[in-house]
Amino acid sequence: MSEYLQPKSLEEALSALSQHAYTPLAGGTDFYPPRSAQIIKDPILDLSKIRSLQIIEERANDYRIGATATWSDIINGDLPELFDCLRLAAREVGGKQIQNIGTIAGNICNASPAADSIPPLLALNAKVELESIGRIRTVNLDEFITGNRTTLRKADELVTGITIPRPKQPCVSTFLKLGARKYLVISVVMVAVILEVDVHRIITSARIAVGSCSPVAQRLPQLEDDLIGKKVGSNFSETPSHEHLLSLTPIDDIRSKALYRKDAALTLVIRALEELETKLS
Ligand SMILES: Cc1cc2nc3c(=O)[nH]c(=O)nc-3n(C[C@H](O)[C@H](O)[C@H](O)COP(=O)(O)OP(=O)(O)OC[C@H]3O[C@@H](n4cnc5c(N)ncnc54)[C@H](O)[C@@H]3O)c2cc1C
Repeated sequence: MSEYLQPKSLEEALSALSQHAYTPLAGGTDFYPPRSAQIIKDPILDLSKIRSLQIIEERANDYRIGATATWSDIINGDLPELFDCLRLAAREVGGKQIQNIGTIAGNICNASPAADSIPPLLALNAKVELESIGRIRTVNLDEFITGNRTTLRKADELVTGITIPRPKQPCVSTFLKLGARKYLVISVVMVAVILEVDVHRIITSARIAVGSCSPVAQRLPQLEDDLIGKKVGSNFSETPSHEHLLSLTPIDDIRSKALYRKDAALTLVIRALEELETKLS
């Protein structure tokens, strides 16, 4: 078995993975920093040369982001307004160098509680496509991430893409990230919001996710329900309250106190809704 494999096709990659316990590698920006060259023992399956995995496409019923699409691919691609939340998140990840090489699939597979793609992808109702030899399965993102840095990916599977269903109505979306400084920062709290609005300017769907306030980013279903039926211009951004955020379980850590995180989460949710209400007016 080779210690480092750089396949050019998905078939070659899946075949290698079916025979040996390779660690998949995309941009390497999560994998390498905590390790030194001396302690890298895992044989590596470098996916970065599989061009078919980098495609972002619009299909009849959904959008598909290939597993090796980078943050820069999201920023520079021509995805519609629905994806503003993901595009804004992409612009906040590391710096340009990280955005050029780091992938969204790598971000979800690493499954950090502070991973910037996860709140927007949860709000987008994203599904994760997993492939092994002769088998493809698709799971909801909230099922794929099972805890802090754990996923249900099996050793012989690769994440091959992320799919996002087309919404029924026109959408607006946004993403807000709070950190200790503006750039190159791990978030203290982040919020992604998507609102669908019908021709009568009534909210028909609200999808709100908060990251860095629990082991896995979470949607806020009660707040989402309470926003449905509200009219644009009715100050719907005043709807959120601390009760809507009771499911969050932030921790004290080097970046923030739990209490501050809870408070900041509510502020960010309100600001995100204010921003979208202004945009819709
Ligand atoms: C300086 C710096 C700043 C950063 N800033 C941010 C930030 O602001 N926000 C943020 O969220 N993250 C940040 N990160 C973390 C990292 O850049 C991102 O999480 C990035 O998206 C990871 O993608 P990658 O392609 O480099 O993943 P990799 O490091 O290649 O892989 C990450 C994990 O996913 C697995 N994996 C990758 N692709 C697949 C696949 N297709 N199938 C199965 N498993 C796979 C790997 O085995 C590994 O366990 C930063 C990192 C650095 C070094």
